[in-house]
Amino acid sequence: MTANLGQFVPLDAHPSQNVRQNPLFGLDREALAARMVAAGEPAWRGRQLAEALYRQRLAGIDQITTLPKALRQRLGDEGWEVGRPKIAQVFQSADGTERYLIQGQDRDGQTVEAVWMPEGDDGESGDGSEPDQPEEERKSWDRATICVSSQVGCAVNCQFCLTARLGLQRNLTAGEIAGQVVDVLDRHAVEVGKDRVNLVFMGMGEPFLNYDNFMAAVRLLVEEAGLSPRRMTVSTSGIVPGIERFALEPDEIRPKLAISLNAPNDAVRGEIMPINRKWPIEMVLEAARKVPLRSRERITFEYVLLGGVTDRPGHAREVTRLIRRSGLAAKVNLIAWNPGPGIAYTMPAPDAVESFRAALAGEGIPVYLRRARGRDIYAACGQLKRTVEGPRL
Ligand code: SAH
Ligand code: SF4
Repeated sequence: MTANLGQFVPLDAHPSQNVRQNPLFGLDREALAARMVAAGEPAWRGRQLAEALYRQRLAGIDQITTLPKALRQRLGDEGWEVGRPKIAQVFQSADGTERYLIQGQDRDGQTVEAVWMPEGDDGESGDGSEPDQPEEERKSWDRATICVSSQVGCAVNCQFCLTARLGLQRNLTAGEIAGQVVDVLDRHAVEVGKDRVNLVFMGMGEPFLNYDNFMAAVRLLVEEAGLSPRRMTVSTSGIVPGIERFALEPDEIRPKLAISLNAPNDAVRGEIMPINRKWPIEMVLEAARKVPLRSRERITFEYVLLGGVTDRPGHAREVTRLIRRSGLAAKVNLIAWNPGPGIAYTMPAPDAVESFRAALAGEGIPVYLRRARGRDIYAACGQLKRTVEGPRL
């Protein structure tokens, strides 16, 4: 990831004035090493810098005491700063979920959204991410899930999703994607490698329409921050070229894959997800079959239950057949639709949700019900829209 290097302009005059600083956060080890070499330092200082940014989570150049003071001074004078996105606002749900507005790196005032769910939402159940041995209890939470965004807004225009209402505002940089994670890890004093934390790329945006920055962020989180790709899940609405690229990523850095199926057939899917007209279900499944799976790993199909639209018993039978026919090692995550202002769908009746679940389970399909977390603060699936205050639902 060298994009930020290209923007670097040495600032020789008056660095303390109100000049734009360039963020180091988001640069990978090689780019940091190149920066150090350019400053007349040995390349291994790049590793020290990476360690400081992504492992020690230091937020200011001054704090990076592994670097000589003169070098820190020089980096600052040359217009560099750590530049990690900062949590600007926190919304706390009655259920312990937190939603964050995070100040991006672009200075355009746009905030980025991330969510912390202590105890998760059951979305990772059955996809091969459970630890082999139970871990000792260490924190007030035993396992947690961090949900991050890949874009501000989204261009995909799914009819049931609040994020779609924003349209696509912009792609997030690798630093902004990884920065959300590092911010939240830091806020909750997560010890990487000890605490059980899952990461889902399921916030705002379509990760596979911002592929390079998304994968650059994954690489930083795996190679520098030390997170396991087996504890990460990326969700796509079915961007076929993205799935095909993803299939070529090596096991060491490839997160698990979730596909937002959301409908039992192309007719219904085309209505609620216009993207289906470009890449219909069969094309998505064909691409998904190219993604290699590690032992015990399954592909997740997400399925939003919309009252009367996707939650009928006949739909459950169609989904069962579709998954069987796909030949994929798959599991299904059912998500009861979370309402949003101005969206004309209805929540599924609780007994429709249970019947749908039971129908799939009865046919031997692994199926889990995602719990709605943080609905009261607009943190639940599909509700992220930079809502500063929202009606209580
Ligand atoms: N853009 C990607 C990832 C973000 S959306 C994708 O669509 O897969 C994450 C999940 O939330 C998707 O499965 C999506 O179908 C679901 N979702 C969107 N709006 C929702 C809503 N209002 N209620 C419940 N789930 C929703
Ligand atoms: Fe975009 Fe996902 Fe929302 Fe569809 S569900 S509009 S792809 S964020």
